[in-house]
Amino acid sequence: MKGRVAIIGGGFGGLAAAWELTRHGVTPIVLEADDAVGGLAGSFHVNGERLERFYHHWFTSDTHVAELARELGTEDRIVYRSTRTGLYFANKVFRLSSPLDVLRFTPLSPVARVRLGMLALRARAVKNWRALEKLTAREWLVQLGGREVFDVVWRPLLEGKFGPYAGEVSAVWFWNKLKLRGGSRSKGGGESLAYYRGGFATLAEQLATAIRDAGGEVRTREPVRKLLVGDDGRVLGVRTDRESIPADAVLATTALPIVADLVQPHAPAEYVKRLHRIPYLANLCIVLELDRSLSNTYWLNVNDPGFPFVGIIEHTNFEPASTYAGRHIVYLSKYLPADSALYAMRDDALLEFCIPHLQRMFPRFDRSWIRAHHVWRAEYAQPVVVRQYSALVPSTTTPLDGLFLCSMAQVYPEDRGTNYAVREGRRVGGTIARALATRARAMPREVSASQ
Ligand SMILES: Cc1cc2nc3c(=O)[nH]c(=O)nc-3n(C[C@H](O)[C@H](O)[C@H](O)COP(=O)(O)OP(=O)(O)OC[C@H]3O[C@@H](n4cnc5c(N)ncnc54)[C@H](O)[C@@H]3O)c2cc1C
Repeated sequence: MKGRVAIIGGGFGGLAAAWELTRHGVTPIVLEADDAVGGLAGSFHVNGERLERFYHHWFTSDTHVAELARELGTEDRIVYRSTRTGLYFANKVFRLSSPLDVLRFTPLSPVARVRLGMLALRARAVKNWRALEKLTAREWLVQLGGREVFDVVWRPLLEGKFGPYAGEVSAVWFWNKLKLRGGSRSKGGGESLAYYRGGFATLAEQLATAIRDAGGEVRTREPVRKLLVGDDGRVLGVRTDRESIPADAVLATTALPIVADLVQPHAPAEYVKRLHRIPYLANLCIVLELDRSLSNTYWLNVNDPGFPFVGIIEHTNFEPASTYAGRHIVYLSKYLPADSALYAMRDDALLEFCIPHLQRMFPRFDRSWIRAHHVWRAEYAQPVVVRQYSALVPSTTTPLDGLFLCSMAQVYPEDRGTNYAVREGRRVGGTIARALATRARAMPREVSASQ
């Protein structure tokens, strides 16, 4: 093997980097703080089956994960299914899965419906995203679709998802969402999304097994506490609670504020400050196990400011309830600052808080339908992509020789997602392997020059 690389984080980014390193003959050692791999796409069990803590699907354009599954010989686990998208507005659920649904969307005037349809097409036709970097999503959406469409359709979604940052979100972020969601279609024009049978965590575990089989290591419950840095400023490894792990290079795949804490004793203050420049939102997901279905919609955007969640995702309208022995799975999702009171609320109190809202939205719903509930929180769930974001994104290389970065916040102009975590992880894995090879070639010359 040609060197050893310590990887901080066993999410899809860290695992993909490790896999790529093994392809180059380099030994990776993945160190994951949690008790399982998968990161934000990790899972828990419902009736013996893995289920994502936070709802997950792929778009038809997510080719990097599909390619990875092909390499592992597991692509037959990927299933493509048509899904139903809806929008809750003024006490009613409207279907919004196809162009015809847009024309039937009565909360908008007929002219505005046409403008909404045109907006989706015009957004997907944008090729030069750099031209959008100076605009906020609001400015761009009003330009494209007019104020009525913005106020009814987009403003509540932006405010629901980004809260205090809604006015700062970049047009590039929104363009990318419209492009992905609008482009993930079956031949008939309806939305088509993909799932991995057994859950995304199964793919993460299969990847971890393949890394081990190829000579790498993947350890869980092993948070990295410190970087080991030599007097010459070169990173020599990492320190965990158990031991010091020497490495020829270190790759950090965690959220940037966590990287900032690790590099703080060693890197210039300006760099540490830079890592704090991108704000993050946390996510709170309440997962309900119901004994029956709530609605026939998979993805329901909530455009009602009185409802505290931005989305209701009925997962079992995508992956059948039979997978979970008949349990119907519903996620209530909320993005919020990690210091907000709702984020800190106790799990049972959160459930009580949700029930009246669900009853208002789905008058037939009764609390006796709930067989179990789970609450999941992620502090660094969504980097806020603001205007001119490209100027904020840190590079893969860092001021510390031998330390590399591959974090969700660096995915741009696309937004975070397992597909891009895999793409970027593999890219950085290749970069590190080449850097180690270059260093190895230079070494004999360095030695002979000093003799
Ligand atoms: C609500 C929600 C819904 C989503 N929906 C989708 C979806 O539908 N489709 C999709 O593809 N993507 C979705 N995503 C995004 C996707 O989950 C992420 O983009 C992807 O998992 C990021 O992978 P990563 O490896 O870059 O980061 P992470 O998954 O965050 O992995 C980083 C890892 O580092 C570990 N770590 C942190 N500190 C340390 C330390 N000191 N030492 C060791 N380990 C440490 C963490 O435990 C974590 O496992 C969603 C995310 C959220 C929050």
